[in-house]
Amino acid sequence: MSRFLSNKYASLEPYTPGEQPKTRVLTKLNTNESPFPPMPEVVEAVRREAEILQLYPDPDATELRKAIAKRFDVDPDMVICSNGSDETLYFAFMAYCDAEAPAVFPKISYGFYPVFADITGISSREIPLKSDFSIDPEDYYNADGTVFIANPNAPTGIPLSLAQIEGILQNNPGNMVVIDEAYVDFGTESAVPLTKKYDNLLVIQTFSKSRSMAGMRLGYGIACPEVIADLNALRYSTNPYNIDRLAIAAGVASLENDEVNAANCRTVMENRQYTVEQLKALGFEMTDSTANFIFVKHPEIGGDVLFRKLRERGVIIRHWFKPELNDYNRITIGSREQMDILLREVRDIFKEAGI
Ligand code: PMP
Repeated sequence: MSRFLSNKYASLEPYTPGEQPKTRVLTKLNTNESPFPPMPEVVEAVRREAEILQLYPDPDATELRKAIAKRFDVDPDMVICSNGSDETLYFAFMAYCDAEAPAVFPKISYGFYPVFADITGISSREIPLKSDFSIDPEDYYNADGTVFIANPNAPTGIPLSLAQIEGILQNNPGNMVVIDEAYVDFGTESAVPLTKKYDNLLVIQTFSKSRSMAGMRLGYGIACPEVIADLNALRYSTNPYNIDRLAIAAGVASLENDEVNAANCRTVMENRQYTVEQLKALGFEMTDSTANFIFVKHPEIGGDVLFRKLRERGVIIRHWFKPELNDYNRITIGSREQMDILLREVRDIFKEAGI
């Protein structure tokens, strides 16, 4: 760091994204991207919009908010769009956390939550998971702070039911509850319908995973209009043109053909089932994931060892070099072909190691 950096950032520990290799790797299963390319309608919409890049985009992303509102049967003034869902999360930390309202989230969850807490200068309370890695919803009753829960949770993939989410909302009438649904489309029930009933709920979703658009950086939040107005005040105070023309056009085109995205999600879920069965047959243990990734360990090989050996063979999965997660790896569910390469390499590694 330079000698000019403000002291308030001296101890900041930035979020570490999963590796994005500079060259195309054989099998990339480390950052939960979709194995499917964007649909042709999305590519064509982007191409068309690229012809008028001399003009600023609509700061209210009106067409996209309308499309999202239609898709989820809510009013457009219940929707905010952002540069990835990370940005809506950041707005929520800025808007709803302070000395009176610390951030409350699971100890094992999305690694960005503690970083957002840090950069917004607020304290956080990290609640341990149960021994089976699940979240006990009652731990979040009367939270005395702003609750952030990824549903399904990451990197475990374990979901809470809608009834459990509703329990958290009912038992926090004075606290904001943020449900991060980045991975909801792979088999978890969404809490979006509850946004019409609870003014303390903000649901966050993304185009990055189920809609094959991680490279476009597009996310959104859905909540009652008053909450959306709060978030917009922060958005207009930081970056009113936070999503560009290409992202707006791509998002609209994607939602016009959302059944294609849904079919892709079904394929990923089938591939998940297949991979789970094959890995279990090899002795792996894992959580019951409803996400586009699985969280696995094997009693006879360290998580870090498997991660390194797969990497040498061109298969990248995600490992955290932290004591509590060292036995585990998170593996993105990709195409059937990608999963077969993973399985082939795992079998080979096991053969070599005499497992
Ligand atoms: N929430 C969770 C739980 C995630 O894993 C991610 C992806 N890293 C995000 C939010 C943010 O995704 P994006 O900014 O691409 O929408």
